[in-house]
Amino acid sequence: MERIDCHTHTYLSNHGRGTVDEVVSSALSKGLTMVALTEHLPLPDEFNPDGTFAMDADKVDLYLEAIESARRAHPQIEIISGIEVDWRVGAEDYILERIEPFELLLGSVHMLTDELGNSWPFDHPDFIEGWYQRGEEQVWQQYLDLWIQAVSSSASFDIMTHPDLPKKLGFKPSFDARELYHAMAEAAAKHDVMIEVNTSGLRKTVRELYPAPDLLAAFSAAGVPCAIGSDAHRPEEVGRDLDLGFEAMRAAGYHVVTVPTRTGDRRTITLR
Ligand SMILES: [Zn+2]
Ligand SMILES: [Zn+2]
Repeated sequence: MERIDCHTHTYLSNHGRGTVDEVVSSALSKGLTMVALTEHLPLPDEFNPDGTFAMDADKVDLYLEAIESARRAHPQIEIISGIEVDWRVGAEDYILERIEPFELLLGSVHMLTDELGNSWPFDHPDFIEGWYQRGEEQVWQQYLDLWIQAVSSSASFDIMTHPDLPKKLGFKPSFDARELYHAMAEAAAKHDVMIEVNTSGLRKTVRELYPAPDLLAAFSAAGVPCAIGSDAHRPEEVGRDLDLGFEAMRAAGYHVVTVPTRTGDRRTITLR
């Protein structure tokens, strides 16, 4: 079966390793036919106080040039210049002004903001106490609200990544999550956005793919196209665990993997 990876990072994230060329070379060594570079879109300083959440604003040109040069060096693989957008309350205009140069937009929610404007990175181990202060149901509900804002925003995301990221540190919904999952699936279907099976969850505390089987089944039932990505933050992670992702998609009722292209069209790979 053809293998691709829609979600990778480099040292330019300020929290990953490896160059664009090393990511592409790793993809080639694993027999992939397409790799999307999807670095974290720069954020306003107040949302990225120590600079480690996203690419520096003055590195975007360097990033795009590195992708161009990798294309020249490796014409045998399709290389998409993508970006992962961390959707944040208060940063919407900043984001919308900066997404134009990229061929693929990944939408994600990594941070919740309270009524006082304080942000909390719910997926960061150093800030885990926020879960105990807020309670699990409240966190998931706030996440859902922001996720739906992102899906329906004028950014028109191509793919919503790691759709149930809040479980990363192990906080899977212990309540009946059917309504939550249904709302996510309905929103994704309504706005014709793809979702992604993201294999990086296997490498985190939760030790499972994003999304959970029940959520993936809800997306499948709603007819939401599904892509796949490793969310590699170092070159050796590119293309990791794709087979487990394909297996989860089959189990959820999918027959094809949906693949974005440089032109914005989608194609499919039959799941075998
Ligand atoms: Zn992410
Ligand atoms: Zn990512």
